Amino acid sequence: MTSRSETTVRSVRDQIRSRARSASDVCRDALARIQALDPQLHAFNTVVAARALARAGEIDRSFDRWRDRPLVGVPVALKDNMCTRGVRTTASSRMLEHYVPPYDATVVERLEAAGAVIVGKTNCDEFSMGSSNENSAFGPVHNPWALDRIPGGTSGGSAATVAARLTPLALGSDTGGSIRQPASLCGVVGLKPTYGRVSRYGLIAFASSLDQIGPIARTVDDAALALGVLAGADPRDATSAPEPVPDYTAALTGDVRGARIGVPRALLEQGVDADVSRAIMAALDTLAARGATLVDVLLPHADYAIPVYYLVATAEASSNLARYDGVRYGFRAAPGTRPSQDAPASAGQAQHPAPGTAPSTPRSALGTMYAQTRARGFGPEVKRRIMLGTYVLSAGYYDAYYLKAQQVRTLILRDYEEAFGGANAVDAIAMPTSPTPAFKIGERVDDPLQMYLADVFTVSANLTGLPAVSVPCGFTGGGLPIGLQLTGRRFDEAGLLRLADAYQRETEWWKPAPPIVKG
Ligand code: GLN
Repeated sequence: MTSRSETTVRSVRDQIRSRARSASDVCRDALARIQALDPQLHAFNTVVAARALARAGEIDRSFDRWRDRPLVGVPVALKDNMCTRGVRTTASSRMLEHYVPPYDATVVERLEAAGAVIVGKTNCDEFSMGSSNENSAFGPVHNPWALDRIPGGTSGGSAATVAARLTPLALGSDTGGSIRQPASLCGVVGLKPTYGRVSRYGLIAFASSLDQIGPIARTVDDAALALGVLAGADPRDATSAPEPVPDYTAALTGDVRGARIGVPRALLEQGVDADVSRAIMAALDTLAARGATLVDVLLPHADYAIPVYYLVATAEASSNLARYDGVRYGFRAAPGTRPSQDAPASAGQAQHPAPGTAPSTPRSALGTMYAQTRARGFGPEVKRRIMLGTYVLSAGYYDAYYLKAQQVRTLILRDYEEAFGGANAVDAIAMPTSPTPAFKIGERVDDPLQMYLADVFTVSANLTGLPAVSVPCGFTGGGLPIGLQLTGRRFDEAGLLRLADAYQRETEWWKPAPPIVKG
């Protein structure tokens, strides 16, 4: 079995490239580790062992074609909200439990073109709504560092698989922190790229002005390698950006001399766990000792980030999730039946009425079908978001809530523009990723507001579109991982990753494996 130090993307890739190991051998190892540990973690909704072995075998057989690809033979896990042709894609919802997409997301095409081997789809919160992975219709993911604790959400399965060394790389999606927060709570690196940097084509939408796909890996170097593969314009996503894609790994010089790091001290004094505060302050000292300058920044509208996020995100969610009506795809409740008699709407195939035929269902029965489908297909948090979002968009409330939230979103953006572009401009802004370490499974499920507050440091990067990374920066007294979040300039992932990598080179926090990993 691969030793722990060899579980980075780069080391696995280089072993395969030099033919020290075959892609098939690496793939078999990953599948064996998943089989051994996933029963305790529940990080995967679906494992595609046969598909993965076939692909690895294909790479080994036509190795000359693949040798120089950046991710040749690297096993990758995908959050189960990215469409994979022929492989069910559930968003951890009963609504899509049997949905088999007829197409691949752009990120899937790019990973495979780069030589990666997809091994499975990871568990997440239903439709990516949550902060703990407890909203999955298929049950929670367990944190590899403490199995009675949450891994963070919503890309909890992706963070857990990397932390537990099941795969060296996983993709997550981040609408309000869902890559960074689980990365932080599982002791790995998570990068949310700039909005538009990575195509969202084939990502099951939650809130389209906030959603972004990014890598979760053990090292910043690996995240940079993966971003180079994922990034770039895509004609199928009009919000993907034409900005050129630099060589992100070449930017990792280890040199932070002269970099200016903004520290919003007032923000860090509110409700942050004492162990987390200590670790963040120590991380800032480390960066300063390497030659970075710490600069106080004010983010005067930061207190509004959570309310603004939960207005904008729910409004967009209510619109995006209107498509799940039991007609086109996904779950359908048969009218007048009990839940046990429900059938999936043709097991994920698109439903088309025969050409020229009028719908034979009477309107009232159709209405009942819609209502029952949505009542039974969605879980409680998704329903809460749809209702909140519908409310804030409704006539009479739109101006007071949705429009106001968009105005305040602009004020939050201006705070960041001022910090990055004003007289005292900084290169990055540092804060914790999460105000607390991983909490116990079940601890916050009855208190949605308490759950929403877990996102206090992460949502601003989505509201502003800026790139942000979480990098391991310590452990609590009880041995739980802590993450440092750095937010960068728009489309300056290279500069952001340089800082995070320089920090990682100076520290060992990313090295230890959680207790469940043996050998
Ligand atoms: N925790 C946030 C929410 O529940 C963010 C989720 C996400 O980034 N997908 O909306």
